[in-house]
Amino acid sequence: MAHCFSIEAEKILDKKFKVLDKGFVRLVDYLGNDERIVQAARVSYGKGTKTFREDKALINYLLRNDHTSPFEQVVFTFHIKLPIFVARQWIRHRTARVNEISGRYSIMKPEFYLPSSKDIAFQSQNNKQGRADEVVSLDIKKKVIENFEKYQKELYKSYKEMIDLNIARELARINLPLSLYTEWYWQIDLHNLFHFLKLRLDPHAQLEIRAYAKVLASITKKVCPIAYEAFCEHILNSVKFSQKEMIALRNILNNKPSGLEGKEEKRFLEKLK
Ligand SMILES: Cc1cc2nc3c(=O)[nH]c(=O)nc-3n(C[C@H](O)[C@H](O)[C@H](O)COP(=O)(O)OP(=O)(O)OC[C@H]3O[C@@H](n4cnc5c(N)ncnc54)[C@H](O)[C@@H]3O)c2cc1C
Repeated sequence: MAHCFSIEAEKILDKKFKVLDKGFVRLVDYLGNDERIVQAARVSYGKGTKTFREDKALINYLLRNDHTSPFEQVVFTFHIKLPIFVARQWIRHRTARVNEISGRYSIMKPEFYLPSSKDIAFQSQNNKQGRADEVVSLDIKKKVIENFEKYQKELYKSYKEMIDLNIARELARINLPLSLYTEWYWQIDLHNLFHFLKLRLDPHAQLEIRAYAKVLASITKKVCPIAYEAFCEHILNSVKFSQKEMIALRNILNNKPSGLEGKEEKRFLEKLK
């Protein structure tokens, strides 16, 4: 059986890819690659890799038909430094194994996420979980950044005072803000990583977690270029249509009006863009 490693992945192993102002993603280790997926899929009849074309076709067949278990044979371990508010969204993905720095054990460093000026935005009116496109004046941006900085410094000062009084670290830390950076080892298989990427590369995901997802995506592509391409084809850039939308599609193909109205029509047309 062929030993599975990727030349491109070996080049980036242990390299820190910067994310946001102080964060990073580092690929610590990986197990398997495109070859491992096809070996696992073909195990039932004892054959390993075939030609590049056949392997590519098989990987695409597997993803197209939701035959996902061979993708679970590829495993990634990442070391990630990220703000706690991003970690809270991230940890909702239950199918990974996590080991995080302990604020009960370690003294937390004064490292806080400070959004860059270009990312300061007003609340969106139509997306309750999102940012508006409306321009924010430089004056307001400056005020917002000063505000973040001021309270980050004050809260850390208060934390440090308690640490210096020998108050238990598990207590001293409880007022620290969500912008504080944390670190963890995150281990996940390729099937579940694709699920994470589908959700967190989406424009509806918060900008900050999207920044991490983009780096994870570029690393995944280096380890498993064929599977990543198949993921883009069958998962990331594919669209799900509801029953009503399928009827609308058939109507349009038969030169009839879609039959959809209002928000339903708007959502449907968005998918066709
Ligand atoms: C844009 C966006 C906005 C969000 N907003 C909110 C929000 O406002 N509030 C909020 O609470 N969450 C929110 N979430 C989190 C979201 O609801 C999911 O918890 C998160 O995306 C993880 O998805 P998952 O459960 O599919 O992933 P995973 O936990 O990785 O699970 C993968 C799959 O495994 C299966 N699975 C895993 N564990 C179990 C289990 N115990 N039982 C049954 N099946 C299981 C499921 O099929 C699941 O889809 C948001 C997510 C996104 C992307």
